[in-house]
Parts: sequence; structure tokens; C-alpha cells
Amino acid sequence: MVQSLGDLTKVDMKVYPTHECRSNCTFCMTDLRWKNAEAPTEEYLANFRKAFAAYFNAGGRRVLFTGREPTNRPDKLLGMLKIVKDYPLELAVIYTSGVNLLNPFSYNGKESSLMNALVNEGLRNFNLAAHHYDVGRRQELSSEMVCDLEEIAEEARTLGATIRLNCTLMKDYIGNAPEAMIYIEYARSLGIQDIYFRDLFHLANRNRSCAYSNRAKLAFTDSQRIDFDTLLSEAKLVPNMRFNEELSRHRGNGRTYIFDYLGTRISFGTLVVGTEKEDAVTYLNFQPDGCAYRDMNGPESKLNILL
Ligand code: SF4
Repeated sequence: MVQSLGDLTKVDMKVYPTHECRSNCTFCMTDLRWKNAEAPTEEYLANFRKAFAAYFNAGGRRVLFTGREPTNRPDKLLGMLKIVKDYPLELAVIYTSGVNLLNPFSYNGKESSLMNALVNEGLRNFNLAAHHYDVGRRQELSSEMVCDLEEIAEEARTLGATIRLNCTLMKDYIGNAPEAMIYIEYARSLGIQDIYFRDLFHLANRNRSCAYSNRAKLAFTDSQRIDFDTLLSEAKLVPNMRFNEELSRHRGNGRTYIFDYLGTRISFGTLVVGTEKEDAVTYLNFQPDGCAYRDMNGPESKLNILL
């Protein structure tokens, strides 16, 4: 029997085409969580169609393509965009390091960039990971050549796409209000008006939340976690930084604080993992194995919705 999902009106669907990412960042939060084997494209897309229909029918309207690096599987990504494009969604967004977006890409008989192909399939929102304003500092964190943010911002303007920069808060990188302000001014100089500062995961119940963690990355993460509430207090004192609202997300496991700085939207978000309830879907995870899960803690979170 197909499992009931309950009301998913305010629940995100997080979609992982692959766990492959050549960036192998030192703090990668996906490497702290459980991973599974990757299904072939045809099977993956057939299952996605069913899982997305179940999500939509339960009231879900927010689809996040994430991963590790979702653009490493353009066939899956474009196939899913074709499936969701006719539905009235509140949000469809990709989380990417940006490394593949400007690669030459042949699609529907035309040569352009992968970004162009994604936009042509209806994707407008690109959340681009950039963890420092200095390209050298960004590169320290990644094994792969980081993307050229200026070129991507320019391509987004040409294509009519929207960019949000995602910056992970870390003690030795962007970890206090003065550094955040330099970052904000850098983003604004690129014409980017939406910035999300993301706290490193807080890992509760570690026998559950860290059971599959890469130990070196867990140690790095623990050494780099900042005092989020102090940063928030400092941000509220910055001239021209106007606090707008606090949002609860992921069934109360996360908090987001939204500010306006001279017309630029600034968000600070924090999240606890390992406290998800077992009788509710915290986020509908559609994983590389082509199966759906109620959270990211392990195989025991699998949902029976694909019949
Ligand atoms: S780019 Fe993102 S998914 Fe890839 S290793 Fe870095 S943090 Fe992880």
C-alpha cells in the first residue's frame, strides 16, 4: 500500500540527481550524511515522476535540485525540469557550485551553455555556492577549479535568470559581521541582490545524524562552526541593515532571519539535523537511488510512495 505523506504544504522537496562532486569541499555537509548508490537515468526519472506527483498532491510546491553537484547529471536534471515545468510551483531552484553552468552544451539541436539549456526548460533560480569574496580563499576549500562568478552573473543577466549567492559561515572564512559586509558589497558589485549566509549544520543526536559522516570533514566542521546568534546580533547593528522577519523552516528544525540592506535581500539561516520526527516528512528527499526519504538520516527514513 502507498504510504500517506500528510500535509506537505510548507515542506520542501529536495532532489539529488547524484552524490558525485569533484569539488570535494573540506566542509561538505552532504559528506556528513548518509549516501546511496545511483540509479540509471531512465529508472530515476520514472520514479521521480511518481514521487513528484505524490509530493504535489500532498500540497508541496517547492522543488530544490541539489546534491552534491546536480549539474554533473544534466540528463536527469533536464528530464526532471520537463516533468515539473507544467505545474504551478512556488519555487523551482538549483543549488550548484556553478562549475558546469557555462560549459558548452548541445541541447535540442542548439549549441549553447548548460545554463542556457536549464533556463530554456523553465529554471530561473540559481543558488550559487560561493564561500568567500576572495577567489583564492574560495579555491582553498575546493579540489576543483571554482567558477567565475562574474561570468555567471553576466550570463544570468542575459538569460533573465536570478542568482542567489550561498555563503557557508565558517570561523576562518566569513564568520563575523565585518567579513559578511565585505562579502555583501562584493555581491552587490556583481549585480547580485540576494545573499544567503548559511550556518554549518548543528548535529544533534550524533549516533543518528553522524552515523555515516566523513570523520575528517566532521572534525573540520566542528572546528569552523561560528556563534550564529552573536553574528545575528552584530548584523542587526550594521547601518542600513533593516531586519524584516524570522521564518521557521523544516518543521521547526531551522530558522531563517531576513534583512534588507539598501535593496539587497540578506538571509541568515541555521539548521539542526538529527532531531527530525519519525512520523513526519521533514523534507521530501528524492535521492540518487531513485527513492524518496522523509529526512537524510539513513535508509530507515525511506518512504513507500512509488507504487
Ligand atoms: S560543491 Fe557543494 S556538494 Fe560539492 S563538495 Fe562542495 S559543498 Fe559538497
